[in-house]
Amino acid sequence: MAHTEYVYDLADGDGTMKTLLGGKGAGVAEMHRLGVPVPDAFTVTTHACVETMNRKGEWPETLWSEVEEALTRLEERTGLGLGDPEKPLLLSVRSGAVQSMPGMMDTILNLGVSDETVAGLAAGGDERFAWDSYRRFIQMYGEVVEGIEPHVYEDALTAIKNEKGVENDTDLTTEDLKELVARFKKLSNEALGGEWTSDPKEQLKRAINAVFQSWLNPRAEVYRRANNISAALGTAVNVMQMVFGNRGETSATGVLFTRNPSTGVDELYGEFLVNAQGEDVVAGIRTPRPLEEMEEVLPDAYRELLDNMKKMEQHYKDMQDMEFTIENGKLYLLQTRNGKRTAAAALKVANDLVDEGVITKEEALARIEPAQLDQLLHPGIDPNHGQQSIAKGLPASPGAALGKLCFSADDADVRGDNEPVILVRFETTPDDIHGVIKAQGVLTAHGGMTSHAAVVARGMGKPCVAGAHGIKINPEAKTVTIGDKEYGEDDTLTLDGSTGEVYAGELPLVPPQINDDFQHIVQWADEVRRLGVRANADNRTDAMKARELGAQGIGLCRTEHMFMAEDRLPAVREMILAENDQERAAALEKILPMQQQDFEGIFDAMSGLPVTVRLLDPPLHEFLPNLVEQSLKVQELELTGGAAEDIEREKHLLGQVKKLHEQNPMLGTRGCRLGMLYPEIPEMQTRAIIRAALAVRKAKGETVDVEIMIPLVAYAEELKRQRAVVVETADEEIANSGEEINYTVGTMIELPRAAVTADQIAEHADFFSFGTNDLTQTGIGISRDDAEQGFLGQYVIDEVMPRNPFESVDRDGVGELVRIGVDKGRSVKNGLKTGVCGEHGGDPESIDLFNEIGLDYVSCSPYRVPIARFAAAQAVL
Ligand code: ADP
Ligand code: MG
Ligand code: MG
Repeated sequence: MAHTEYVYDLADGDGTMKTLLGGKGAGVAEMHRLGVPVPDAFTVTTHACVETMNRKGEWPETLWSEVEEALTRLEERTGLGLGDPEKPLLLSVRSGAVQSMPGMMDTILNLGVSDETVAGLAAGGDERFAWDSYRRFIQMYGEVVEGIEPHVYEDALTAIKNEKGVENDTDLTTEDLKELVARFKKLSNEALGGEWTSDPKEQLKRAINAVFQSWLNPRAEVYRRANNISAALGTAVNVMQMVFGNRGETSATGVLFTRNPSTGVDELYGEFLVNAQGEDVVAGIRTPRPLEEMEEVLPDAYRELLDNMKKMEQHYKDMQDMEFTIENGKLYLLQTRNGKRTAAAALKVANDLVDEGVITKEEALARIEPAQLDQLLHPGIDPNHGQQSIAKGLPASPGAALGKLCFSADDADVRGDNEPVILVRFETTPDDIHGVIKAQGVLTAHGGMTSHAAVVARGMGKPCVAGAHGIKINPEAKTVTIGDKEYGEDDTLTLDGSTGEVYAGELPLVPPQINDDFQHIVQWADEVRRLGVRANADNRTDAMKARELGAQGIGLCRTEHMFMAEDRLPAVREMILAENDQERAAALEKILPMQQQDFEGIFDAMSGLPVTVRLLDPPLHEFLPNLVEQSLKVQELELTGGAAEDIEREKHLLGQVKKLHEQNPMLGTRGCRLGMLYPEIPEMQTRAIIRAALAVRKAKGETVDVEIMIPLVAYAEELKRQRAVVVETADEEIANSGEEINYTVGTMIELPRAAVTADQIAEHADFFSFGTNDLTQTGIGISRDDAEQGFLGQYVIDEVMPRNPFESVDRDGVGELVRIGVDKGRSVKNGLKTGVCGEHGGDPESIDLFNEIGLDYVSCSPYRVPIARFAAAQAVL
């Protein structure tokens, strides 16, 4: 063991040390341990990066001397020396975060080549290769470490190719490359005002520092935010001996997945390039070749690669994404990681690995990323569309995407907020990440199946058609020419990422198809999980969808939407504006049959399962016109000499609007407070519910378990009185019907006072349902609508809060209120039924907490039901 505080030699690490060595560092250490050929290396830990960030960019005192010691050891092991003219050691300096962030940070290759060492590098016989490496180094180091504009080098490269009359970089001769190196050095020096350093040790120090800094670059930040990765983790830096895929025709470099990451099919999926280095394969400048073709070109290395590929897959028991380089016929693996894949592929791979006996069902379940399943629940292109495609590229990431065209990531970033857009690029680079996130899909003219764009798109479930060669993009004019037709920013295209076809206009879509792999695995999830999963649904269509997706009942049926419907509103207003009890009763009489009809639809769809109906919750003014608008209306009538009776009516309405106006309606007359003021409302609703349940049983022979829920209770006394209204009404209805039907009455716990007095409240409740949306608002003291527009986003970016508490429940605060509520409730009522019906019911992290707290079920929107089923299973694994 030779490691020091911040630096680990290759042999000091293993696959379990991701947090310290980063995914890449741990990955190469593990390969080395297992006898897979990897270049020798040492790793500067994530800890060193974090310390450096904490010290505002200054390295920990011992870091540089530790690096120097590790370098000396590496030199001894390889028999080479950094800067040694005879036997130069060349290094790659690679970024490596704990969670993989493909292409988001920087890597510097060929460090150690200089005027002094270039001859020594060529001593192996190949001068051209040495100078090619040299010009690559200056370009990469200049851009990444010294911050020189890429176009400085690109322009010089283009110029020399034009002068020599060649098209490809590979056509440049040794002499051309020498000339290019001279020009590159001069340009670099000019750009830096004479500060360019050629001391390799100094370069190494700066390169490591540049990798630290790249952790904070904008695209890495965007990626982290999109994937909920904490900025506090830092990146490791892998300093690795270079191996050269650009040493001629028996050298190559490439990328592969051990299975198809789009579909999950167990087949070879990779690309390579002969006589190439680094990003050549993924950058889209030269078109890479399918990996199968390597069998002919480099048969021995090919076989060895396939052996190692299967070995690593077996070892990690998961599909791998690997990078390799072949130098003079000798194979090296440079990286392995669990491959990013689509949801469909994730399910297929998991299913197959269980069939192959590689993993258990439980392990398979633990692998699935529940949030990713969302992808499977998006619509696809109607197979009967009958249209001709206008272009075809590689099916780089499956799914249907349609939208207006954007020709830069910045445009997509902005326009994507307002309308569906497709990002159209010659090729995409990691810098486009913010645009990819906002786009529905990505179309590129260049680049292969393993390009960064394709990898990132697959990971995010964005459809991507890559390398559609026939299309000509003009980013300045913001047009793309396909065939003989030009398409601009206002045109819509449809992409089929599963076939690579591109269509003009909007194609018809069909609802998502849930496949066999999904059905299979979700069954395992159901066998394992303890938490029930219900859906929030307030109409028949949603209820049916929820049931189809596996919901075991409805956890929240909101009744206000039934009040909002256009045909109901007049009667609802009549009720609100009623001058006395009789008038109010008359209006409610009109609403009752409509409510009953709604409930019948829902109960019919859910018969045999429990349905929790929440009595009216929102403040009454929501059913009335807005104060300002109504004032204006009255004013206008008066000014234009409207009929006296119209003025009178509108004025009356205005008076009511004023009367009901509240400064803070969220904390105003709503929830059970309404029912306390107007008991006729819960009475009417109870009648509608009980009548509907009876009617459905009459028609179907079975009905739902009726659960009537009183919202926004703060005091036990509120629940006691509201419960009495409900029970009296329900029992009367039941007695009148001459039938028997069971129902229960419970409450929402959505105020901190309710949570901490849950023992008192439980005396009157048959069940609790935690309304974590309101509980988050009232518990943290933030209004969702205002906060999400305002400070909340910044708080999340600055990591004041780990995540948006409306997306993922605030574990320590709101989560604790839920725990207190459950414990106190159950302290007086053993086994009191408890659930959650806020948005959090569909969030995997929150589900994990709810499982831990011991709730009986979560309830979420119908399309999140499958996600919740998986998350609930993972919570117990
Ligand atoms: P990323 O995280 O962006 O994939 P990497 O650190 O993997 O960055 O480096 C990018 C590419 O550089 C690799 O795919 C590989 O082709 C090349 N590379 C990195 N290290 C070496 C090395 N030691 N020898 C040869 N090529 C290397
Ligand atoms: Mg890599
Ligand atoms: Mg609420």
